[in-house]
Amino acid sequence: MTQHATFEAAPGITAVDTMMTGRAVVTSAYLIHAREPALVETGPTTSVDAVLAGLSSLGMGPADLAHIVVTHIHLDHAGGLGRIAAAFPNAVVWIHQRGAPHMADPSRLVSSAARVYGEDRMLRMFGTVDPTPSGRIHAVDEGDVVPLGDRSLEVMYTPGHASHHVSLVDTGSGAVFTVDALGVHLPDVGVLQPATPPPDIDVELGVRSIERIRERAESLLLFSHFGPVIDVEELCDIAAARLQRWAGIVRDAMIETEDLDRITELLRARTADEFDEAPAPRDRIDRFEILADMRNNAAGLVRYWHKRAEREQEEAAEADH
Ligand SMILES: [Zn+2]
Repeated sequence: MTQHATFEAAPGITAVDTMMTGRAVVTSAYLIHAREPALVETGPTTSVDAVLAGLSSLGMGPADLAHIVVTHIHLDHAGGLGRIAAAFPNAVVWIHQRGAPHMADPSRLVSSAARVYGEDRMLRMFGTVDPTPSGRIHAVDEGDVVPLGDRSLEVMYTPGHASHHVSLVDTGSGAVFTVDALGVHLPDVGVLQPATPPPDIDVELGVRSIERIRERAESLLLFSHFGPVIDVEELCDIAAARLQRWAGIVRDAMIETEDLDRITELLRARTADEFDEAPAPRDRIDRFEILADMRNNAAGLVRYWHKRAEREQEEAAEADH
């Protein structure tokens, strides 16, 4: 079965459902129909067939794609990059400078993901990760521009979810690819949840990134999970408030217990009301767990608080001198 669910997400931008873990409306890639066509996100290796079928249905032959931009190197976004880059040999690959070395040599990225997901589950969800030839990678940072001929993508460095996370402003439509900066928003469930997996969640940076996106976004946000949203102000408000709320819940839970399972239970119980606003069947809500399961969300925030405490201790020690 080859899926190729595509739909128009913004003027000149088509979403391609990557059918991650065989399920629709979980993770999307986007094709920008510029003079130099660009793919934003590749999905994981397990999604490569679906993405190639989608691109082919949109008329993209092997010689046609000029650019591939991956917004951060988490495997659900970039795991398939090596394969997709091989299928489109002319495409220039754009990645934040902190992430770029790990796509050329994915060994550390893969072992880090194996720690977060467990090796079996990682392979089941994402597959293996092929390296991307370093000669094809163009590292980017805040303010850089990916030129697509008749429109371009402006790079905003938006850490918080990951230290190598960028958002992209499409000059053709004004849409902002928010990626995971605001969290996960599944349109048919109508709920936004933070995405706080280990290893480098930073709540302050995350809130600042959300505010920067709010300033830049004219009328449209493009989520990787999943699709376009027009309620820019509302979603930015909810995203910033929930990220801080979740972090606070985990900090309070850490006073009660060090057990991650128990902290996860508390986080789940104390955020369950967020689903009340749009009650959806259980199988829909389950899709949140595919993307950012609660245990990983809890683990990411626990790690954030530990790192922050260490930082504050170091600063206090320095102030004593
Ligand atoms: Zn993601």
